[in-house]
Amino acid sequence: MFVPCVTLPDPEAPAIEGQWFVFDRRQNLLLIDGAVPVGLESPVAASNPHLLGLDDGRPVWAASLDGRDLPDEATMVSLREAFGAIPDGEWVMAGRGAQVLAWDRDHQFCGRCGETTENHATDRAKTCPKCRLMSFPRLSPAVIMLVERDGEDGPEVLLAWGRQFPGRFFSALAGFVEPGESLEECVVREVREETGIEVDQVTYFGSQPWPFPHSMMIGFTARYVSGEIVIQEEEIVEAGWYPHDALPPVPRGGMSIAGWLIEDWLRRAALADTTGA
Ligand SMILES: [Zn+2]
Repeated sequence: MFVPCVTLPDPEAPAIEGQWFVFDRRQNLLLIDGAVPVGLESPVAASNPHLLGLDDGRPVWAASLDGRDLPDEATMVSLREAFGAIPDGEWVMAGRGAQVLAWDRDHQFCGRCGETTENHATDRAKTCPKCRLMSFPRLSPAVIMLVERDGEDGPEVLLAWGRQFPGRFFSALAGFVEPGESLEECVVREVREETGIEVDQVTYFGSQPWPFPHSMMIGFTARYVSGEIVIQEEEIVEAGWYPHDALPPVPRGGMSIAGWLIEDWLRRAALADTTGA
């Protein structure tokens, strides 16, 4: 079991082998012989180690790569490339490490008075010795939602081709939460803004830390109420209603909650088809 912590419970206790998530400045992860390295010390020159926690008592570290003298067995892979190349649990841990290091890098100075910050002794926080401002790792919550309706020939789902996708690729709608807004309000607002569609029955699906660079994706399903699709052209190239047997290119399962939402809907839509519901 993994228990997050920022300091070893007993610094006097004999050192035990740790697992090392070492990143370069471009957030690429170090692998040795294709695996996340394990050892008492990092296998390369690494600086600024942060203890992420203890996994069954074994320390798990995140650290920054210093210099470029890598052993022959070393490879650097992006977080996206690492998905599937290392065990899923380690991929999630790599995302945790990348976010902690990004926060460390971006909060070296107090955002209020400019003084050099210090690491808090017992919390994952940085403190300003001058004005006492505390800075915690940044999380940017975003909602992602799959809107469903009953079409003339069965269940349909609202999918959009976002401008940020490299090619013609569709997914669930998504957007960042505004200050002062509930998650449910955000779902309704984002669907309205991006497609002109009104929804209700906003239902929690699940969540996923998304370390690109520090999002927290919170997934929902929602039901169509009214409206015709009018896309927000700055964000969306194309959007439409699709039945389960005629989907455009979409994520299916895999590394993102978008894929999990679509996979879940496909299961339910196929079931409705076979039962005639
Ligand atoms: Zn300050």
